[in-house]
Amino acid sequence: MANLLETPIEYLKGVGPNRGTLLRKELGIHKYGHLLNFFPNRYIDRTRYYKINELQNNVAEVQIIGKIINVKTVAFGKNQKRLVATFVDDTGQMELVWFQGHKWIRESLKLNEMCVIFGKCTSFGNTFNMAHPEIELMTEHEQSLRSAMQPVYPSTETLANRGISNRVINKMMQQLFLETQAQFAETLPEYLTAELKLIPKNAALFNIHFPKSVEALAKAQYRLKFEELFYIQLQLITKNLIRKHKIKGHPFTKVGDYFNDFFKNHLPFELTNAQKRVIKEIRIDMGSNAQMNRLLQGDVGSGKTIVALMSMLIALDNGFQSCLMAPTEILANQHYNGLSELAKELNINIRILTGSTKIAARRIIHEELENGTLHILIGTHALLEDKVKFQNLGLAVIDEQHRFGVEQRSKLWKKNEIPPHILVMTATPIPRTLAMSLYGDLDISVIDELPPGRKPIQTVHRFDSNRLKVWKFIRDEIAIGRQIYIVYPLIQESEKMDYKDLMDGYESISRDFPLPEYSISILHGKMKPADKHTEMKRFSEGKTNIMVATTVIEVGVNIPNASVMIIESAERFGLSQLHQLRGRVGRGAEQSYCILMTSHKLSADSKTRMETMVKTNDGFEIAEVDLKLRGPGDLMGTQQSGVLNLQIADIVRDRDILILARNYALKILKDDASMQKTENTILRATYIELNKKKNIWNYIS
Ligand code: ADP
Ligand code: MG
Repeated sequence: MANLLETPIEYLKGVGPNRGTLLRKELGIHKYGHLLNFFPNRYIDRTRYYKINELQNNVAEVQIIGKIINVKTVAFGKNQKRLVATFVDDTGQMELVWFQGHKWIRESLKLNEMCVIFGKCTSFGNTFNMAHPEIELMTEHEQSLRSAMQPVYPSTETLANRGISNRVINKMMQQLFLETQAQFAETLPEYLTAELKLIPKNAALFNIHFPKSVEALAKAQYRLKFEELFYIQLQLITKNLIRKHKIKGHPFTKVGDYFNDFFKNHLPFELTNAQKRVIKEIRIDMGSNAQMNRLLQGDVGSGKTIVALMSMLIALDNGFQSCLMAPTEILANQHYNGLSELAKELNINIRILTGSTKIAARRIIHEELENGTLHILIGTHALLEDKVKFQNLGLAVIDEQHRFGVEQRSKLWKKNEIPPHILVMTATPIPRTLAMSLYGDLDISVIDELPPGRKPIQTVHRFDSNRLKVWKFIRDEIAIGRQIYIVYPLIQESEKMDYKDLMDGYESISRDFPLPEYSISILHGKMKPADKHTEMKRFSEGKTNIMVATTVIEVGVNIPNASVMIIESAERFGLSQLHQLRGRVGRGAEQSYCILMTSHKLSADSKTRMETMVKTNDGFEIAEVDLKLRGPGDLMGTQQSGVLNLQIADIVRDRDILILARNYALKILKDDASMQKTENTILRATYIELNKKKNIWNYIS
């Protein structure tokens, strides 16, 4: 049976080489098995037959029983023709229309025979017409393996143009079930299907393609969704277990002088309970013989930096070097300054390496890295260059992980035989469900508490027409010594236009806030790193009042005296980005504000985004709304979109099934980690089979 599903798709009766090539190219269907697992994305109710006099304009697809009484070619426009057929039933008549494939269609139409037409109706004058209908003779219609709910398969324009309609796919599916006699191996152990009342695999596959009823379809979907999520969880959890058993890590057995000295004598503030808890989790993790792979989530301003430093001090206490990698030079610089300041009394050697580090400085870094006198190296992607060789890298901290691909993460690994412990820090709160599906192989720590004394940022939404009032507010804030950010969108596709918006904005702000009373900084992606650095410095030293910028300041920038964040064209930002930007203020003791400026024209989604921002400061709540609005692909940024290459489940809508699947996977593996027990034979076989096929697992590092 398994063999049959490996058969190349062109061997299926009715496919052949041409269609085979199309199926491969357009849908990734290479074999029988792929077609079997190519699931519909929606269903149409075909239990109902309409009469012509019941038709309404533009309702969903309808089916009508009747007959074609004549066909003619009608000219229209310049050199254009269409094929028009008159279709009648006992209540009236309508037109069927084709714009393409005339000859072939004309030959295939049978006049005056009862048939069923299916498609979408539109009215034109007082006659209805249906363009490119599906037509089936009544005799065929009665015989065909048809289900009440007609599946609609995902398609592409090329497929549609090349005649592979939904009906054709449906026919192929029928043929597939015929050739395989609809016998498919069960893929879940019996105790699971029994306990969860899941229908058998055979029944599920049959009903997903040919549902007998709405209830049967629901059961089929549930079973297949569970199965998909369950095996992904099994994979992720197994990976985690294997790592813990097999991938050796440097055991950091002691907490020594560097850590203790810092903790006792140089802490600039008392740690929050969340920070203490997280440091403990990290310490225990690094103290075992296994490599740590931990995701540290903490909302903007929750104080991740000091956690990173203290983790690095533990590495140092055990004789190891550390590095911290940031996504931009600005951030790397800021980390360098921040960590140097925190550690200034500790007598440790910290350096920074970025794209703009001069050759002489690089040489020193390379040397000190190799002879072990450099303790902590901070930098950008430059850390991944081949020349950068640590004597003994024990811990790699990666800040704002979503900007680094999984591949880069593992690049750091390859530098040492025993991989360093990895701590990934992110301020983009990842909803639990998403974290589970994407990072089920990482352990997760959460800083869920802000340092004391922070006043929640007040957020308002203002229309462009209220700008004068907003400007007045800015003047008042500047008058009491505060600083202001004004951020403009920068989106790749319209870079030129955005740049113009930014420059126009800068000019008008310069006019409204003129020298010498006010001074303004500007920061955008087109500037040289050195210039960016200078502008950042001027602003952070309080030499300028307003920072006009694009989203380059989005992550991590920390200037406690800045108390107002104005976001221009806020409707053009995603929620997580708005939240990130807002997090640039509210870092000091003063009350801070975020003002979202938009035009009056807002889509429903944009409205929801503005309302959510005004309503809550909680990053996790915002992430959940974002996930609902945008779906998981977008949330993770384009780099990683498509990572959740799920066939049938949807991690937003099916989160309950996901949690159930995860719990079962955990329970089963806890009891039988290598799936050796007899009752898990099917599990093990399916797992190995799925692992061989890279296709759905390729999102895992
Ligand atoms: P993020 O998690 O966004 O990286 P940071 O580590 O930059 O946050 O910390 C934000 C600000 O809060 C910094 O100015 C830092 O010094 C301060 N901070 C961090 N932890 C505490 C604490 N426990 N008590 C008071 N202030 C803190
Ligand atoms: Mg930070």
